[in-house]
Amino acid sequence: MKGKVIGDILVIKEDIENPESLLKTPGVKRIVKLGRINGLKREPEVELVLGEGTVTTHRENKCQFKLDVSKIMWSKGNTTERKRMSTIVQNGETVVDMFAGIGYFSIPIAVHSKPAKIYSIEINPVSYGYLCENVKINRVDEIVEPIFGDCRITAPRGVADRVLMGYIGNTNEYLDVAMDVLKKGGIIHYHESVPDKLKFIRPVERIQEAAINADREVIEIINKRIIKPYSPGVYHVVVDAKIE
Ligand code: SAM
Repeated sequence: MKGKVIGDILVIKEDIENPESLLKTPGVKRIVKLGRINGLKREPEVELVLGEGTVTTHRENKCQFKLDVSKIMWSKGNTTERKRMSTIVQNGETVVDMFAGIGYFSIPIAVHSKPAKIYSIEINPVSYGYLCENVKINRVDEIVEPIFGDCRITAPRGVADRVLMGYIGNTNEYLDVAMDVLKKGGIIHYHESVPDKLKFIRPVERIQEAAINADREVIEIINKRIIKPYSPGVYHVVVDAKIE
């Protein structure tokens, strides 16, 4: 089937013949076509092919994620990573999710593990709004504290046993912030989009350089994994590093 199902919406990128036939797909009640992404705000052209509205609630790993598919991304390719993160946080830890989105990682961690606190920072007001709603819907408001703004400014310093850097773009430019946020012996989960030849070499080097610049040291690279292909010859990877 072309497209991906998010909540009860089938999101397609190209015109399809006889869209009614796709309503037979289990769970699909609406069809939305997303077109070109325009303007400074990078908003996609949206066409409602069948049904009304673009807000839905996607269920995954016993969590609920409310979102507007025309404004917010949902990456199927990150499913395994969202699940993995929900199982590795230890009891009583403090987590800082520097790029929280609508709660992609914060919600599953809060639902399936027992951290003391998760600070979830998000700069986009639309995503932040859904993050706050998702915290309530999943009843994790005693654990997750959403923070609006740029993590460079708003991230609480010196508090985290674990820092999540679940963003691919100029993530490396925030490693200095992550070092300031992380307590001694804490773990950074660093995401990067990286050409095949450099995969794992460049992210590890960047973490090591940031540690040195912060007068710290990488004690151990605990884990390295490919999350998904990002573009031809480029991978979205994550490296888990323990920092002195
Ligand atoms: N990891 C997610 C997943 O599983 O699908 C996707 C990552 S999400 C797209 C990254 C989020 O980081 C976006 O919502 C973006 O608005 C936010 N972001 C980007 N720069 C930021 C910054 N400086 N401070 C806080 N949030 C930021």
